[in-house]
Amino acid sequence: MQHQGSCLCGAVKYAVTGSFNAFYLCHCARCKKGTGTAHGANLFASNAQIDWLQGLEKVKRYQHLNTRHVKSFCTDCGSPLPTHDHDLNCVVVPAGSLDTDVPISPSAQIFVKSRAAWFNDIAHTHCFNGLPK
Ligand SMILES: [Zn+2]
Ligand SMILES: [Zn+2]
Repeated sequence: MQHQGSCLCGAVKYAVTGSFNAFYLCHCARCKKGTGTAHGANLFASNAQIDWLQGLEKVKRYQHLNTRHVKSFCTDCGSPLPTHDHDLNCVVVPAGSLDTDVPISPSAQIFVKSRAAWFNDIAHTHCFNGLPK
């Protein structure tokens, strides 16, 4: 199965060939810093392949010092992009970067001990289709 995605500015486009085995919402401190939001939302595909359709020269890989935490991003717009995790031998795809449908639901929330306190009660927040009126 092939999945396609891109970054916010559109410079980078990619295709991932493979099947997603897991979809984790990760509340760890590194994912919070690395996304700037409540949690990472990454799909994992074992033995999958990333093909960079355009903009490979804009893709920077960041490996956090002395950890296995790794992420790739567009050097123009900063959007998270897929990464090949060599330790796990799988491709990690930020769910929000996909342009094709995400074919599975989240498998689990992980590292919930680090969950942002402000994220605990969001079921009761007001919802608007656009900006609040
Ligand atoms: Zn970009
Ligand atoms: Zn994490």
